[in-house]
This record gives sequence, C-alpha cells and structure tokens, in this order.
Amino acid sequence: MRFRSSVAIDLGTVNTLVWVAGRGIVLEEPSAIAIDTAVGKVAAVGDAADALADKEPQDIEVIYPLRDGVIADLDAAVAMLHAFLSRSRRWAGLLRPNALVCVPSGATPVERRSVVAALSVRRPRCNVRLIDEPVAAAAGAGFDLTGGAGGFVVDIGGGTTEVAAVAGWRVVRAQSLRKAGNAMDEAIVQAARNELGLVISQRAARQLKMTLGVTGGAEGWAEAVGLDVAQRAPRTEYVPGGLVAAALEPIVAAIAGAVHEMLSDIPAGLAEDVVRGKIRLAGGGALLPGLAGRIETAAGIGAVVVEDPLRCVVRGAAEILERNDKGRTVGPGLRR
Ligand code: ADP
Ligand code: MG
Repeated sequence: MRFRSSVAIDLGTVNTLVWVAGRGIVLEEPSAIAIDTAVGKVAAVGDAADALADKEPQDIEVIYPLRDGVIADLDAAVAMLHAFLSRSRRWAGLLRPNALVCVPSGATPVERRSVVAALSVRRPRCNVRLIDEPVAAAAGAGFDLTGGAGGFVVDIGGGTTEVAAVAGWRVVRAQSLRKAGNAMDEAIVQAARNELGLVISQRAARQLKMTLGVTGGAEGWAEAVGLDVAQRAPRTEYVPGGLVAAALEPIVAAIAGAVHEMLSDIPAGLAEDVVRGKIRLAGGGALLPGLAGRIETAAGIGAVVVEDPLRCVVRGAAEILERNDKGRTVGPGLRR
C-alpha cells in the first residue's frame, strides 16, 4: 500500500512535474500562478497562468513562486502546489502520501524547510522527504549509483545550472550557477533591442533560443515579432543566427567553464566512472542546439544529452522513491 501512495515532485523554477506511483507523470506545467488582484483569488495556474504573462491583462498578476530553484514566494508556492496536486485526483484521495521533493544541493536549511512547509500547510498528513536534485538527475540520466558507482551530470534549468559529480547516491561535488535558460532569454531580449531596435517578449526570445541556439539552426535565421523601439508599432523581423549565438555566448562559455573547473576538482577515484559514463546533460537547457558540443570541447571528454531531459529529474526521483518503498537498501540520503 505504501508504494501506491508515493508522489515525486520536481518543483523547478520554470516547470513543475508530478509523478504518482502506478500512474507515472501526471502533471507537467509551468511553475506559474495568476492572481486576480481585484478579488484576491487564484485566476489560473500552470500553462494558463504562464500564457497570461507578458500580456498584462487588467487586475492579473502572474507570479513565478520559485527563483533559482528555491521558493521565493511561499504563499504563491502553496497555492500553486495545492492547485497542481488537486488535479491528480487519485493522490488527492490518499490518506498518508509519501512525497519526495527535489531541492538544489546548495539550498540552505531555511530554503529546505520552506519546501516542506509549502506542501504541509494544506496537506498536514503528507510525509514529505527531500532529495538533492543532482542525485535525482543522475538517477534519471541512467546512472546506476548502486555499489558506489558514480557519474557526472549537468542540469541546465530555467534559473540555475547545476554541475555535479555524484557517487553511491550522494553528491560528491556540486556547483550551482545562476546562468541558465532564463538568462539566455534575457540576453536575446537585450540583443534584439540593442541591435535590431526591436522589443520582443520573453516568449519570443525563448523561441529564437530553441530554434537557433549557438549553431544558428537549420536556416541560419528565424522570424520574430516585436515592437519597433522608435515607431512603437508591431514589426516582423528576420533574426540572424549570429545575433542569437553572440548573445548566448557568455552564458554558454560560463557553463562550459564551470564543467571544466569541476572536472579538475573531482576525486581521482571518480575519474574512470566519469570518462566511461560521459557527461550527461539534463534539464530543458540541455536541448539548446550546440550546447553539448561546446561542453564536450571544453571538457575534453564525451558529453551527451539524456533522453527526455525535461523529465530527467522527476524520473530519477521516482526511481529513488520506488527503490525506497520496496525496502532496498540503497541509501540515497532522503531527508525529512
Ligand atoms: P527548471 O527545472 O528550472 O524548471 P527545466 O529543466 O524545466 O527548468 O527547463 C526549462 C528551461 O529549458 C527553460 O529556460 C526553457 O526555455 C529551456 N528549454 C526548453 N526547451 C529548450 C530547447 N529546445 N532549447 C533550449 N532551451 C530549452
Ligand atoms: Mg530542474
């Protein structure tokens, strides 16, 4: 019975994923909530809330309750989580669910407690445990961490990039870099304004990033619609791949640099595991065209994008939860 009542949650800066034992991933939505400020009520959550951002409808405030992987707005996080979890009906009916939530390895004790609080406020009977995100990412990336085996993962999310060496279900070394997907979008917004005189939304910038990346994409350009800075009128522009690549360059260089630096700091005993297992890239940012190649060049060893990188962390957390529920002694360091 315990196995059936388990839930794994990846509470990301950009996306929240919920996995329920026996059902798989039941929810995958932006970590966003829209409040109707006129009546003080929740107007929308997830996809519907995210779609309202940038459009500034009257009396609507769109909040992204997570910043850099940790809760920045507790009230909004509580409301958002409650709405998400209410959607997975089977879990909502369970009496004493076990919830495993991923937290960045660098999260402080206060930040960890706020994650537990965000779940417990509305669901006091819920048994909340935490897992370091790099360990979940490594498990989801396909590393078998039993018997002390290790691996190297880079999780490029929205707010942070987590570079980590793990072994035996524990973090060996981890570094969190505040340069990830959101910073890439921001850099493209700035470049479009400075070089093309075009004001584009974060959403439009994200689309350019996905299409062009650091390689320029298949066509070498992509279309974007924005507002002309001088005329203040909508304008369609063909954005060259070189402009986007140049805007992304400092961020990509910082990520590749952090990987290189951490590789020079791992224990010698882990070197063989890392080379054999290759560097595995997870998180949405792993899909950036050209990023894996850049990391491989900087590191001097193979780098591969894991299968379905956006779901990697929640998949790994689910695996850890199942192992624990089956009573296997893997010791992945779950914390209460
Ligand atoms: P988080 O864990 O912080 O919520 P995710 O792992 O869900 O983040 O990844 C979200 C980030 O990945 C966003 O910044 C998004 O724009 C980016 N992303 C998603 N798909 C792609 C893609 N194909 N190319 C580049 N970036 C992408
Ligand atoms: Mg993440």
